[in-house]
Formats: sequence, structure tokens, C-alpha cells
Amino acid sequence: MKTVTLSTGQQVPMIGQGTWMMGERPDRREDELAALRAGVDLGMTLIDTAEMYGNGAAESLIGEALGDRRDELFLVSKAFPHNASRQRLAASCEASLKRLGTDRLDLYLLHWRGEVPLAETVEGMEALQRAGKIRHWGVSNLDTDDMEELVEAGGMACVTDQILYNLTRRGPEQELLPWLFEQGMTAMAYSPVEQGRLLGHPVLAKIAGEIGASPAQVALAWTMRSGRVIAIPKAGTVEHVRENRAAADLVLPSDVLDALDAAFPRPARPIPLEML
Ligand code: NAP
Repeated sequence: MKTVTLSTGQQVPMIGQGTWMMGERPDRREDELAALRAGVDLGMTLIDTAEMYGNGAAESLIGEALGDRRDELFLVSKAFPHNASRQRLAASCEASLKRLGTDRLDLYLLHWRGEVPLAETVEGMEALQRAGKIRHWGVSNLDTDDMEELVEAGGMACVTDQILYNLTRRGPEQELLPWLFEQGMTAMAYSPVEQGRLLGHPVLAKIAGEIGASPAQVALAWTMRSGRVIAIPKAGTVEHVRENRAAADLVLPSDVLDALDAAFPRPARPIPLEML
């Protein structure tokens, strides 16, 4: 499995597994458990979740699927903004750990920016790190100006910004991605297949067909093409997981990248960071 190196030197798989909407439907549970396990078997050991997802149901599903394989995983969870205060962050983290059936997170993120001052969240994250509850910390949905404020607030140890990034959401290429790379921070691309909406796009389907790949594989390989962006697609079946895993080995030739640029142009000027 190809890896991306965090600023701490930690290597993580370039493609992981998202879990939003998982663990919420009893009729899909067995498929979801099998999908998560199959992904880990295939090297997709980075698992992304959040206390928000199903009010903890996604974390519990991961605990059930992979509790006995903890040491193979790079577990990422996120705290609600209203829980990102000095007082509440530790309790949120503890509850996530309990649901996941572990004693530590590999990466803990502020899910999006809320009312709590960034400096206070940084302090909370650092306290959790000192206590051994989390190994790294980062943020999500912060635009360039928020990231600059974060660094000014003492947050230079932030390792990642998890953002909406895919062929139809290219805004971050203007300012945010270059800024993150300059700081040595990694980006994580969420909704890398636009929650499935991208997959029926006729031009994407045509390009994929021409190179013998699936639309999902081309869309995922495109988000990871710099070698510095981690993609975290969510897949609820083993079949989709297998298909997505293969995207990490797909290198898109320059004529394909040009064709994708023409079909999915990047915005001409900076636009505010979008979120789902
Ligand atoms: P996504 O990964 O772009 O799309 C998931 C959808 O695509 C599901 O309906 C899935 O169907 C389908 N899919 C996946 N692989 C497929 C394939 N090979 N062929 C056909 N369909 C496929 O959307 P997402 O779940 O919003 O984003 C991914 C993860 O990013 C989330 O699960 C979550 O962990 C994270 N996220 C973070 C934030 C944030 O604010 N930080 C926001 C959104 C998402 P099946 O389930 O049937 O496989």
C-alpha cells in the first residue's frame, strides 16, 4: 500500500475507509462489518470516523469489526465543535475510545470550526496527547484563513486538514492545498466520489472505460495524484472496497489528467472552502 508521510514522520496509507452513515441500518450491518474487515486485509488500515456519525454508531461498528485488530489500524475520529473546549474535549475523546474499544486514537480532529477559540482547542488536543489518549491531532473543514489563525494560536503541530476535495470540488487547489503542503501538513480528501454522485458522470465513465478502470477508481486516483493527499472513500460492500483499494495503484497518465481537467476545470479564482 502506498503511504503518505505526516509531518511527524508517521506513515499512513494513501487510501483509507470512511464511515459516515455506517452502523445505522441493521439490514446493512453484516455487509458493513465485512467491508471494513476486507479493507483492512487489503491495507486500508486508516479508518475515519466521528462522534457525530450515527451519534456514535459508526464508532461502535468499527469497534465490533476491528476491536481485535487494533494494532493494525490508524484510527481517526473527530469531536463536535461544541465539544472542542478545554473541559469537554477529554470527555468526548473518552467516549469515542470506549465505543471504539481502544485506549488511544491515532489522530483526533476538530470536525469543523465553531465558537470555541482555536487556542483552547489546541490546548485540549495537546493535553490529550500528553495523556497518551491521542497520538496526533488535526482539524477538518478549515479554510486557509482559519488555518493561518490556527497556527497563530499555537497550532503548528496540526498534522492535517480534512476537506471536501474531488473532481467537482477543486476550490482547495487555489490556495488551501498549496498552503498546507508548504507547512508540511497533509490533506485528507473526504467525499472523494462526491457521495456517489460523481460516478455516473458521462465523461468520467468514458475516460475510465478507455483505460480499463472504473469511474470510482479514476476519481479516487485523481484525488491522490499528488502523493500528498489521503483519500477516505466510504464503501458499504466488500466489492466496492476492493474496487477502491485498487485505485491506490492506478497512476493516471498525463493525457487522462488533461481530459479530466477539461471536463472538471478548477475554479478560475479562489472560492470559499465548501463542506458537506
Ligand atoms: P464518498 O466516500 O464520496 O461516497 C460514499 C458513497 O459512494 C456511498 O454511497 C458508497 O456506496 C458509494 N461508493 C463508494 N465506493 C464505490 C464504488 N467503488 N462504486 C460505487 N459506489 C461506491 O462520500 P462520504 O461518505 O461523504 O465521504 C467519505 C468519508 O469522508 C465519510 O464516510 C467520512 O468518514 C468522511 N467525511 C468527513 C466529513 C467532514 O466534515 N470531515 C464530511 C463528509 C465525509 P456503498 O456504501 O453502497 O458502498
